[in-house]
Amino acid sequence: MDALAGSVLGPLWLDNPERPAPRPALDADRDGGVETDLLVVGGGFTGLWTALRAVEREPGRRVLLIEGDRIAEHATGRNGGFCEASLTHGEPNGLERWPEEYDALDELGLRNLDEIEQTLERHGIGCGWARGGQLTVATRPHEVAGLEPEVPGFLDAQAVRALVDSPTYLAGRLDAHGAAMVDPARLAWGLADAAERLGVRIAEGTRLESLRKSGGGVVAGTGSGSVRARRAVLATNVFPGPLRRSAWRVVPVYDYVLATEPLTDDQLAALGWDPGIGVADSGNQFHYYRLTPDRRILWGGYDAIYHYGRSIAPEHDDRPATFEVLARNFAATFPQLEGIRFTHRWSGVIDTCTRFCAFYGLAHAGRTAYAAGFTGLGVGASRFAADVMLDLLSGEPTERTRLRMVREQPLPFPPEPLAWLGIQATRRSLARHDRTGRRNLWLRALDRAGLGFDS
Ligand SMILES: Cc1cc2nc3c(=O)[nH]c(=O)nc-3n(C[C@H](O)[C@H](O)[C@H](O)COP(=O)(O)OP(=O)(O)OC[C@H]3O[C@@H](n4cnc5c(N)ncnc54)[C@H](O)[C@@H]3O)c2cc1C
Repeated sequence: MDALAGSVLGPLWLDNPERPAPRPALDADRDGGVETDLLVVGGGFTGLWTALRAVEREPGRRVLLIEGDRIAEHATGRNGGFCEASLTHGEPNGLERWPEEYDALDELGLRNLDEIEQTLERHGIGCGWARGGQLTVATRPHEVAGLEPEVPGFLDAQAVRALVDSPTYLAGRLDAHGAAMVDPARLAWGLADAAERLGVRIAEGTRLESLRKSGGGVVAGTGSGSVRARRAVLATNVFPGPLRRSAWRVVPVYDYVLATEPLTDDQLAALGWDPGIGVADSGNQFHYYRLTPDRRILWGGYDAIYHYGRSIAPEHDDRPATFEVLARNFAATFPQLEGIRFTHRWSGVIDTCTRFCAFYGLAHAGRTAYAAGFTGLGVGASRFAADVMLDLLSGEPTERTRLRMVREQPLPFPPEPLAWLGIQATRRSLARHDRTGRRNLWLRALDRAGLGFDS
């Protein structure tokens, strides 16, 4: 497809001259073995927020963060930059699973989003933060009912097209307070700098290879020597790690994204789009899209690809068939931008779990905490997860750790070939549901087992 010709394979956000040089790897052998109060493993949002919150909550605490690759190299530097208040992957999922505490979860999510905004101000982190909210649009007649035409705030086709103009829109609803758009890589780099200013030590290119109980704490093996820590946090997303119990609860699902060249004044005028508003369509296979601070459109989602055997590998990064589908759907959504080119195409791995939002836990007799399973909505929720893990490690109950949502774990995925067969059947059924508006037997069975998802 012409629009994709000349695009580079790599995330827009990391293609930035502001990207910091990698910090040196840990050299624990030379340092005669390292000791710390808290070892954080993983330099994505979950790990960065944990490190920063640890020293904000307890100044002077010795914190070491190790990252196997580079800060923000994976999901954190590849996402859409929708920073949402929801801790439950949307209201329907939260209400369905935890009806009795949903109001508290909603309130905690909004507070978390406010506190992210305050953190940016306090530490002077520039990341294009724009809190215009999220617009959900219906593009198929059967999706309109889901936007609740009888409830105030419903936008008919004309009203929604006044916010962002696409001839495909039939209706919409704007959640004006519950989301901000950010440049996720600049946010991550800013969090790393802020943490370091408060005394956190960060080592990149340093992979955790083993973790076990030792004395009153844990001992971690890395390629360059061992680290003794009183407590540890695993913020390693869906990458294989030392804890088998959490590994079965997540599967890696690839999500794909495109970014256009910067829009001209005329092209922007043809859309009439407030850059603080992110858009998502209502299907199960949905697109999410937004303007970037440098006036591009980021366009992602739709295809979610699982590779047999939970495979994560560089050869999955490029998927021409998916990028072509994305480009075609973009052209249908914004015909007024005919001729525009995509400059970047990339993918990232999502840690999908069966409850569609993060789960939390302790291992090594309460000395190691973990959080994973954000299922594509972790930009904001990772900060909440950081506080949950620090609460759990403290051993003191808090309003967060008392939540059933925090105490419960999702059902694990089955081994292969069942995982692959089940995920393919779900994917095909969800695509059919998008076309017809009807849930088939397979989806109804999943709904009954509490595994159904209707985005
Ligand atoms: C394409 C895409 C689009 C998305 N869009 C959105 C969105 O718009 N809004 C939203 O809220 N969420 C979105 N998400 C999800 C969101 O990006 C993540 O949930 C969030 O960034 C939290 O990431 P994380 O820190 O848990 O994981 P990661 O960013 O993957 O960080 C984990 C880190 O751990 C490191 N690591 C793993 N194993 C080891 C080891 N053994 N030793 C040392 N280091 C290790 C990895 O190298 C990695 O850097 C999207 C995700 C993807 C992939």
